[in-house]
Amino acid sequence: MDSAKAQDRSLVNTSLSPYARLKSLNMGDVQWTTGFWAERFKVCKESMVPHMMQNYMNPEISHAYRNFEIAAGIEKGDHAGPAFSDGDFYKMLEGMIMVWSTSRDIKTEREIDTIIETIAKSQRSDGYIHTPVVIKQLQKNSEKKEFGERLDFETYNFGHLMTTACLYYRLTGKKNLLNVAIKATDFLYNFYSRASAELAQNAICPSHYMGVIEMYRTTRDPRYLELAKNLIEIRSLVENGTDDNQDRIPFDEQTEAMGHAVRANYLYAGIADVYAETGNDSLMISLDKIWHNMTENKMYITGACGALYDGVSPDGTSYSPNYIQKVHQAYGRDFQLPNLTAHNESCANIGNILWNWRMFLATGEARFIDVMELTMYNSLLAGVSLDGTGYFYTNPLCVVHDIPFTLRWSREREGYIKFCNCCPPNTIRTIAELSNYVYTTSAKGLWINLYGSNQLRTKLSDGSEIILNQQTDYPWNGKISIILEECPDQIFSVFLRIPGWAESGKILINGKILNIPVRPGTYSEISQKWKKGDIIELILPMEARLIEANPLVEEVHNHVAVKRGPVVYCIESADIPANSLIFDYVVPANTHFKPKTINISDSKMCALEGNVKQIPEESWKGQLYRPVTNKNETFTLRLIPYYAWGNRSKGDMSVWLPVSK
Ligand SMILES: [Zn+2]
Repeated sequence: MDSAKAQDRSLVNTSLSPYARLKSLNMGDVQWTTGFWAERFKVCKESMVPHMMQNYMNPEISHAYRNFEIAAGIEKGDHAGPAFSDGDFYKMLEGMIMVWSTSRDIKTEREIDTIIETIAKSQRSDGYIHTPVVIKQLQKNSEKKEFGERLDFETYNFGHLMTTACLYYRLTGKKNLLNVAIKATDFLYNFYSRASAELAQNAICPSHYMGVIEMYRTTRDPRYLELAKNLIEIRSLVENGTDDNQDRIPFDEQTEAMGHAVRANYLYAGIADVYAETGNDSLMISLDKIWHNMTENKMYITGACGALYDGVSPDGTSYSPNYIQKVHQAYGRDFQLPNLTAHNESCANIGNILWNWRMFLATGEARFIDVMELTMYNSLLAGVSLDGTGYFYTNPLCVVHDIPFTLRWSREREGYIKFCNCCPPNTIRTIAELSNYVYTTSAKGLWINLYGSNQLRTKLSDGSEIILNQQTDYPWNGKISIILEECPDQIFSVFLRIPGWAESGKILINGKILNIPVRPGTYSEISQKWKKGDIIELILPMEARLIEANPLVEEVHNHVAVKRGPVVYCIESADIPANSLIFDYVVPANTHFKPKTINISDSKMCALEGNVKQIPEESWKGQLYRPVTNKNETFTLRLIPYYAWGNRSKGDMSVWLPVSK
């Protein structure tokens, strides 16, 4: 383990990955200073983490930690809650560790280490660690066997343990949690060296591909890489696999995003990690085809994934009812993107970030950061209230409360999602970790991927130190200033990402326009000798734009969404007269929406205002169809960022609005 380079303390450590083009920076190298992400991180640290950790420590609300205590022999009782709650607790611990690492206070560190001690005691001597089974076995219930039930989610739990353990070790050098994860990974290695393909099928929601590879990166134990490769290979041997679990056909024959969207995106992220270590082209060829299918045919305008609550796989091979496969929380058919019933689990949207980050590290292509940025500003942030106390499981693009059917998941955010609290800790750890995605390095220099005020202090690949200050009011303002405070003497490149949404862009060095190509959806490389005090400015246009969808998306024919920079907007009941519906407003195609600064829940943001047509509608009660009326009045409509919806009164919301051309 000590052979790994001591300075490699990054979130996803590709520093020795032979097929990764880029390297992430060490955790802690980037600190948010002011502005958008500094505010979200502060809410994460001061509200999300303490509130949710309090829930996890209260067995009346969450039994997840109590399960560890029972399995450790500290408390008495039965397992309660879902089988995957171990994994969700590890994600919570990961979020707690990440925010703790910015202050490193002793009291919290002791709390973390006490939790780890309990987790370690819940592990069997052979390395197996999974409270639903360990507790039953402690009670001498020999019926309960490891990996016996598909919905036991063991490998999901193992995977999150590995990820959290690697991060804690990299941040502190402490091996208390890492040793637990090493024993667990050894157990999996031994288990899978003799496991059947059917057991691979039981490994649903595969967070462990990412986990096992990160364990390999931490320990350099070649058996772990072998395990990760084996885990993918045995998927191909599964008989009677399902589209829902992405194992009906071998992975390298897959070309479309299919099935349960969290499982799918976690699988794709894990396989991208395996590619970074092995360079197995057939994996990257499939990943790239699936990525194109997802972003061109199946992803929402908010970056959200997984259109369907439940459905039938569109990828079945026969019309025979015996072969029609059910899917749930899943990708649908190409262009099947309903709004009111969109599922879009927060974890699937986070999976989209995890996957695209790994694709980016492997390739250095800006298109992957475009998808990450879109998902961060829209579907990720919509998953949590602005004050950090409530969470969504699903993220629809239209919500109408007065509908004659019940959707399974709440359309109001909840403090703890009793049936399935997988999304809240996932959202918390992701927001806590976003600063790790802002920059990367390659042999040529520094890559600036995302924009938000921060201070960077890091080393380039040759070991030379660079300190810079990024100042911006992005995403509300398109001007970004980067001030070099310390840099090496020799020539190196600064790569600036020009977002794919931008129509143009300007780069200035010390106030002078730089004459190099600025192409949206690529990185502009500036290679020169730099000096302390140099200022790089990037100016991006921040006009509100009306966006239409491919006409094959039936649900939004003749509709537009409004987007400004990476931020998608929506109409919400709180901004229209009480006697009107969100459907009563039609946007003329020439509407010019202007920015207006507002506050919702103590958070400053940029709303948009523009003149639209309001059509006074009679009640639709008892009517499915009727003739069109042609009356309309002009109304100044306010739109708010989609991520901020649901933070005022309980109201209706829609991203898509009818357009008149
Ligand atoms: Zn979830």
